[in-house]
Amino acid sequence: MNYTCDRCYGLLEVIHHDIKDTWIDGNREGVWRYKPLIYPGIEDKFIVTMGEGNTYHHRSQKVSQWVGMDEIFMKQEGNNPTGSFKDRGMTVAVSEARRLGAEATICASTGNTSASSAAYSAMGGLTSYVLIPQGNVSRSKLAQAVAYNSKIVNVPGDFDRAMDTLRQAVKTDPRLYMMNSINPWRLEGQKSITFEIMEKLGHVDFISVPAGNLGNTAAMGKALSELKSIGALDEIPRIISVQAEGANPFYRFWKGMTKSVVPVKADTIATAIKIGNPVNWKKAIKAINFSNGIVTSVTDEEIMSAKAVIDASGIGCEPASAASVAGVRKLLQEGSLDRKDRVVSVLTGNILKDIDAIKGTAGELTFQDLMDMAEIPASKSVIP
Ligand SMILES: *Cc1c(COP(=O)(O)O)cnc(C)c1O
Repeated sequence: MNYTCDRCYGLLEVIHHDIKDTWIDGNREGVWRYKPLIYPGIEDKFIVTMGEGNTYHHRSQKVSQWVGMDEIFMKQEGNNPTGSFKDRGMTVAVSEARRLGAEATICASTGNTSASSAAYSAMGGLTSYVLIPQGNVSRSKLAQAVAYNSKIVNVPGDFDRAMDTLRQAVKTDPRLYMMNSINPWRLEGQKSITFEIMEKLGHVDFISVPAGNLGNTAAMGKALSELKSIGALDEIPRIISVQAEGANPFYRFWKGMTKSVVPVKADTIATAIKIGNPVNWKKAIKAINFSNGIVTSVTDEEIMSAKAVIDASGIGCEPASAASVAGVRKLLQEGSLDRKDRVVSVLTGNILKDIDAIKGTAGELTFQDLMDMAEIPASKSVIP
């Protein structure tokens, strides 16, 4: 199977010919509601779906105040079937795997991709292989992949090395279908985040996303440009792509600090965006340019402060997701945004995805203290 161009080695992209001016299928909900702009031709018998998408747009005074905006919307992608936005791409990619007659799916992942790929493959009757970079995966995400019955392969080195191993495997074995965001069908499904925002909230000025492999940034740009091309969009919302300071090669490039995207050794608490060599950067730069977007970078400290406020407001998210809110706060302070702007931040993953990162305290006690206490017999309980 080919995922890259034989001539330029760039990633392939889905191009829809003869798209109509309808982008909504009123008989469907969630991702497949936008079938006319995602995969108009696929037959229903191949589709593997679990009701993904159709996620809630939160508003919280507490979070808005912390950010400094009059109001900020947070799109809760943690409400998806396996707890992250990855399900939006996976429903389309696994459906395509079935259409192609593949026997197994394979992905390299630090977490959410593997959890999602494992679940959708299981539901679609396909074997799933997951390559895990050593010591770089959150326990809860690995637990999901195991529970959904995927075959786990531990590979030495970081995520970027696991990716190289994977590219070799799919090149030589036609029974395998690749589930990483190199797969252009995943990005087609992920466009539905933007479609939902446009359908449900109408005009917005900015949409912010955390940025790791840059699949979401790329998908967002493609969605906006397709809506524009069918005349369904007047003003184009500006994309804000937020990287973690310890994994920000795309930010450095956009800022003109490097001539190209130069891979870095990634280091951040936000494991879902701990990516040193983002595969989708060329598509992402197109997206940023098309939408007159902004790329920014936030520290782990800023990420964890945002997470603490989002969690305490009752919404909750995993660390990487909080970067999208931290980025808005930073840009507002820098004067790139106005406090009256209409902004949506995408909370990419569920709070339970990374409980080891929970830093909140209950009075004097940390989460770890409370876990330790759970071992203590009831008679010695500290609760009066
Ligand atoms: C995958 C993921 C990201 C990064 O998305 P990209 O499309 O790779 O930039 C961010 N947050 C969470 C929770 C993720 O699972």
